[in-house]
Amino acid sequence: MCLLAAGLAGAGGFSGPAAVLVDRGRVRALGQEALQAGAPRRELAGLWLSPAPLDAHVHLHLGGTPAANLAASRAAGLAAVRDLGHQPRLETPRGENQQPPLVQAAGPGLGAQGPGGSWLAQGLRGPQAFAQAVATRAQARAGVIKLFASGLLDFARPGQVLHPLTLGREEMRAAVAEAGRAGLRVTAHASGEQAVRAALACGVQGVEHGFFLGRETLQEMAARGVSWSPTLAAVQAHIRDTEGRYDQAQRGRLQEIARRQAAQIRLGAALGVRLVLGSDAGSYGLPHGQAAFLEMAAWLQVGVAPELVFRAATSRPARALGLESELGGIFPGARAWLLACHGDPRQDPLHLTRPAWRSF
Ligand SMILES: [Zn+2]
Repeated sequence: MCLLAAGLAGAGGFSGPAAVLVDRGRVRALGQEALQAGAPRRELAGLWLSPAPLDAHVHLHLGGTPAANLAASRAAGLAAVRDLGHQPRLETPRGENQQPPLVQAAGPGLGAQGPGGSWLAQGLRGPQAFAQAVATRAQARAGVIKLFASGLLDFARPGQVLHPLTLGREEMRAAVAEAGRAGLRVTAHASGEQAVRAALACGVQGVEHGFFLGRETLQEMAARGVSWSPTLAAVQAHIRDTEGRYDQAQRGRLQEIARRQAAQIRLGAALGVRLVLGSDAGSYGLPHGQAAFLEMAAWLQVGVAPELVFRAATSRPARALGLESELGGIFPGARAWLLACHGDPRQDPLHLTRPAWRSF
């Protein structure tokens, strides 16, 4: 049992100097109630306590082994990662339940057969095949279902998507219905209005990437309360191009894509779309752990309010992962996976990159 004394960043309306009682890995009480327990006190003078952030979009099989990538995520101070797809022949990555980061994994994604199919998905055709694949994932203890509803961005033509719609509505509806029966959420890799509109109409709970949408589609996402991870750092990583894949003209086109996504993120935030931090860690130029901070920095750079970035990295992904009763905030019952920072992370979320103290 231990009493932590510091500022509080993740406790709802509660802020200012405060006390947090921690026992057997959980927050047990706050404020006066915590003080009354008489536990040994740990002063974190001048520091702000924050819940550890989450990353709602990673690929643990990319950019290293799952074990190394989980270690990097833990070293970066992440409380949970959501693994959104890998090659069908690979094993679904799992973390240890009692150790950060918790892993919520989709297993192989559900995608189209043939052209437009993703290498991170099982190629399927027909509503029955999609429902059956969801049931199989549920039996294998997947934590989420990932659909691949569009292809990749066309880097040669900013604004265009290769294979703009890869799944039929009946296929997506069958997957969403079966996932609902199994208690699983569905999130869709979807860029461009066509795929995002179709995925929304079929009832997905999340949109990954979501490039080139426009006001009406963003409004619909806000109205439906759908989570959106716009993966801006992933485009910036292609622009940095550490392996020299692109020439100057290609990098210019990538910059145009990034500019358009930045404008969409600002508009989405203004319209009340539920932005959730997901980095696409493991893809080109995005190391696990650090990728979450690159995504935060990218949002701040394009003008998203710091307090919103903080929520998008803590309470919102916890809710998107169905883990809001134990992660993403400091409240009785929450896992005590906490960071103490030199400044209030609601005013500058990048304080989370250099905590002065951490509980794990
Ligand atoms: Zn991804």
